Amino acid sequence: MGADAGFDMVPRLSQGVKDRMKWERFLEVVKQHYAGDGQVEVGSRVIYFKAGEWPSLPIEGHKFLRFSSKITGRIAAETGVENYIREVMSMAKAFFGGQIRPWTELCDEFGFYRWDFVHASIKSYESEVPTPEPIPITSVNNQGTDCDTNLYKVMTIPGRGRGLVATVDIPKGTRILCEKPLLKVESSMPEFVNRCVAEKLKLLSKDKQGGFLSLHNNFPGPYAFAGVVRTNALPCGPGSSVGGIYLTACFINHSCIPNAHNNWNEAAQYETIHATRDILVGEEILISYAAEGSSQTRQQRLRESFGFQCSCELCSQSPQVIQASDKRRADIQRLDETIGDPVAMMNSPQKSLAACHNLLQILDKEYAGAVIALLARLYYDAFQISVAHGDQARASVFAERSYMSRVECEGEDSPATQWVKSLMQNPTKHSTFNAYSTKWRTSKTARPRNLDADSFDKWLWRLSA
Ligand SMILES: [Zn+2]
Repeated sequence: MGADAGFDMVPRLSQGVKDRMKWERFLEVVKQHYAGDGQVEVGSRVIYFKAGEWPSLPIEGHKFLRFSSKITGRIAAETGVENYIREVMSMAKAFFGGQIRPWTELCDEFGFYRWDFVHASIKSYESEVPTPEPIPITSVNNQGTDCDTNLYKVMTIPGRGRGLVATVDIPKGTRILCEKPLLKVESSMPEFVNRCVAEKLKLLSKDKQGGFLSLHNNFPGPYAFAGVVRTNALPCGPGSSVGGIYLTACFINHSCIPNAHNNWNEAAQYETIHATRDILVGEEILISYAAEGSSQTRQQRLRESFGFQCSCELCSQSPQVIQASDKRRADIQRLDETIGDPVAMMNSPQKSLAACHNLLQILDKEYAGAVIALLARLYYDAFQISVAHGDQARASVFAERSYMSRVECEGEDSPATQWVKSLMQNPTKHSTFNAYSTKWRTSKTARPRNLDADSFDKWLWRLSA
């Protein structure tokens, strides 16, 4: 057995230029520091430390999750692996600060990532399979006019006006776009919206005015500005009555099975678009304007609110396929309501947790796995059920999964991501900790360490209980 120690990179590095350069500089420092040290070998894919269990650093930083080894026992002592871990960690901290998370099992601390993920990451950089060219992440588009279009281009889509089309393969979780609104406007009577927009437009440059006027209007009539807003505005937060108009994000079309997620970052005052599944070059980037209800309900809502008939991948399927989807969406809604019921959560948490697990599987089927925004919420619900009955071990795992989903669909800078991250570190911070009972009481470190993924999931969802 023995104890492991090391550090994890949380969150992992992106393939963006900034992260790549930082990692390169870090590796340079490591190489210089260990030049002439016979135990450190620099390969074409990886830097090995022939000490302890041979911890390693990949040349490609986005693949890196953990640097660690057993630190107890004769081999660890003779090869001085603990020194290497300490030194490499202090160099890494100088570059990556709080992203470097140290842990040592001697103090009952454990790594952030599950071992199966870590092993998969190590396999990926120790294998000989060449990796695709890294894709840069777009920078914040403050002006709304000069987007980094490395990832997409604006094109005319037959029957749908303009849309965004991927110009490279975009991996799941990538930030495709980050854009400040051209203007924000409170929803109201068309006459009022029209006047309000006219006032705001006067303050903008000619270019930006032109950009606004070039946006599509599905509601012709006396209030053209209000029509543009109604056709194009993205809500500033779920259910918000304030909408933002963007010169690029507004071109993103709707799908009932989207491949991207839009989120308003209230703290930073910008809209982000993240890929919720791998998007292939040539595919249109699509978000959901309306996800709830049956196909008929959605069609009606899209017609009334945005002025178009949906003919997405789902809506153009056969009636049988649409019917099966309608049934799943009704189940999703029913389960969502069951999970949100505080009385059930208090009296029969086992059932509430089972409903979460059931919902997880239906979501996966309905959205073909590309459902990370709903997953983040689902895992947060499972967190709340666990923490309200004192189960810190499962609560911290659920918070961790919710956090990882949030990072993928909203980014590390989203306030919701930060909130769930703090709960992952300390579940007792939540106001409902022990609120219903302490019958499931566990400590945060009581999560099992040596289970395979299936057995771990059984433990997590209490399936064998
Ligand atoms: Zn549709």
